[in-house]
Amino acid sequence: MTQAERLLIAGEWVPAESGRTSRTYDPSNGTELAEFAEAGRADVDSAVAAARAAFEDPAWRDLSPDARGRMLWKVADLIERDAAELAELETHDQGQPIAMSTGVNVVLAAQVFRYYAGWATKIEGKLSSVSVPDTLHYTRREPLGVVGLITPWNFPFAIAAWKLAPALATGNTVVLKPAEQTPLSTLRLGRLCVEAGLPAGVVNVLTGGPEVGRALVAHPDVDKISFTGSTEVGQQIAAAAATDLKRVGLELGGKAPSIITRDADIDAAVVGNLQGALFNTGQACGAYTRFYVDAKRADEFTEKIAAAAQTLKIGPGIDPDTVLGPLVSQEQLDRVAGYVAGGVAQGAQLVTGGDRASGRGLDSGYFFSPTVFAGVRDDMTIAREEIFGPVLSILSYDDEDEAVARANDTRYGLAAVVWTHDLTAAHRLAARIHAGTVFVNQLPLIDPGAPWGGFGMSGWGREMGTFALDEFTETKGVWVNLAR
Ligand code: NAD
Repeated sequence: MTQAERLLIAGEWVPAESGRTSRTYDPSNGTELAEFAEAGRADVDSAVAAARAAFEDPAWRDLSPDARGRMLWKVADLIERDAAELAELETHDQGQPIAMSTGVNVVLAAQVFRYYAGWATKIEGKLSSVSVPDTLHYTRREPLGVVGLITPWNFPFAIAAWKLAPALATGNTVVLKPAEQTPLSTLRLGRLCVEAGLPAGVVNVLTGGPEVGRALVAHPDVDKISFTGSTEVGQQIAAAAATDLKRVGLELGGKAPSIITRDADIDAAVVGNLQGALFNTGQACGAYTRFYVDAKRADEFTEKIAAAAQTLKIGPGIDPDTVLGPLVSQEQLDRVAGYVAGGVAQGAQLVTGGDRASGRGLDSGYFFSPTVFAGVRDDMTIAREEIFGPVLSILSYDDEDEAVARANDTRYGLAAVVWTHDLTAAHRLAARIHAGTVFVNQLPLIDPGAPWGGFGMSGWGREMGTFALDEFTETKGVWVNLAR
């Protein structure tokens, strides 16, 4: 084993003050990949102090927007230079198929840095139309200060990038904490930020578990927490942040409905829904999970999607032919198996899958067969809770009002999809569905130019686009007396 991965604090790579370390494993075979520093409260204090000092240092504070933008552009160049290596690292640590880490995860990260590099020179205030005579009023958009970025294990590299790039473009300094299951690509991102010339302390990276996240959230000198992860942890963060009214952005869980109308192209819906449900082995917040199919087409849809699911190649993500990689950990495997057992116990009809995938070299990894349930009722746990695994629940409906009411009967509201050839139905449904994003006849997509975030218990705020600029700035009004 190589030397343990260290923490990035004030531009230096240092061990945890306690000397503690943890390990990360390849979920396709359970082997240890690396040892990494397990940060503690003292390291959180040091990282926040370094970020505060960097925020106040003229080397960052007075850097021109043009220079700031160039640095972000440089990070994008470096991501592209190391793209193949980064994708392999992500695939080993997270498990996702190499085609996804290469073609989606790493590509998106570079794209996001370029997008916000452009915005660094376009953070503008407004002239306000006040009615007070002889008075000028204008607004400034100012950075918040020190922001804590806490990320999950499902798309570690892309999610770190999509928080980091807008936070830096708007002039903040950050302490970034990746998930304990998948720290390696974020540590590499830290290295690329140093190489791109970001001043010491502007980007700090702390690895470790929930305790590190909690200490960051509780820290009085952190101005904002931007969190992506589970709804339960999001609720804890919101409660903890109430103490000092810290700003909080939350990208949380989802349970996306997919409505397939009577006139839909069923073959296209099968292909799109299968990919939309199973990309990253279903470990995606926007994954399609509840399929409301017009009753006249439900049998056909079920038969076809179950048959297609059985043909998917399951294997280690590093194998270029793999479509379905492992789940991220034993814990996640047990969780998914528990939901599937619950579905059977509650009377859902198991059409295919339902068990751990084994044989063919899969036994030491955390593989689960793609699983399709039919005859699912709205009150079943598999139809209500986020499973985060390769499990599809098929329900049927008789009319549009009913489909909308049932699709909206959820505490979540992150994403949804509609499959139809009827243009008016597509727009009607897009307007009526309670979700931050509605897709029509397509896969779930993320793009730096389009807002991403949820209604209800899927979160607070929006990432991407100009929305993220608002999330990482405060508005200040300036009044100037012009009277002589
Ligand atoms: P998680 O909530 O368990 O952990 C996420 C991060 O929070 C990790 O870094 C973890 O160490 C840290 N953490 C845990 N407890 C904490 C606490 N009390 N205070 C502060 N930090 C804490 O989530 P996960 O299991 O890593 O990720 C899966 C979840 O993420 C799913 O629910 C999924 O829907 C969600 N997710 C949402 C989006 C989105 O854009 N809405 C995107 C990806 C994933």
